[in-house]
Amino acid sequence: MSYQEQVLKRAKNSCELCKSTEKVSSYLVSGKLEDTIYAACVCSTCLTQIESGEFDEHHWRCLNDSMWHPEVVVQVLTYRLLCQLKDYDWAIEMLEMMYLDEDNIEWAKSGLPDEDNREPTRDSNGTQLFAGDNVSVIKDLKVKGSSMVAKQGTAVRGISLTDNPEHIEGRVNGTRIVLLSCYLKKM
Ligand SMILES: [Zn+2]
Repeated sequence: MSYQEQVLKRAKNSCELCKSTEKVSSYLVSGKLEDTIYAACVCSTCLTQIESGEFDEHHWRCLNDSMWHPEVVVQVLTYRLLCQLKDYDWAIEMLEMMYLDEDNIEWAKSGLPDEDNREPTRDSNGTQLFAGDNVSVIKDLKVKGSSMVAKQGTAVRGISLTDNPEHIEGRVNGTRIVLLSCYLKKM
């Protein structure tokens, strides 16, 4: 049996992301170098969006289920997709809920579209920050335009990068705000 057939059999011929049975095929989840084949069974709707990078927000609510999929490869693919859907609060909330061990998070991040051609964003120690990282605030910060203070030690999970390498976006007390990367430390 080829690995494609194995993947389709495991998935019982339904999409492991959205459960559709329309034109399913196996999709290789890049980034693992070992011999084992890491692939997920996806339908044509999911595949088209994954490959084009043009996401229909409503379709991807299915990630709410696939994030708990027993196959790690499906979780990794889910994580990657959520990272690419970070403009939506629900995607960030799901990312915060997801549990993946460090190796698998690294695997997931290795397959994210390159955010090259931009200055790297660095934390207070000079460690490069990536979308999806968790950081903590190293000193009390007043939040511009509000009375809010992001207290020292506040954890900001699943940050997003911005066009400005010195700024990141993250949620503090449930509100999305811009933070200066020089006052943050990668967790
Ligand atoms: Zn699908």
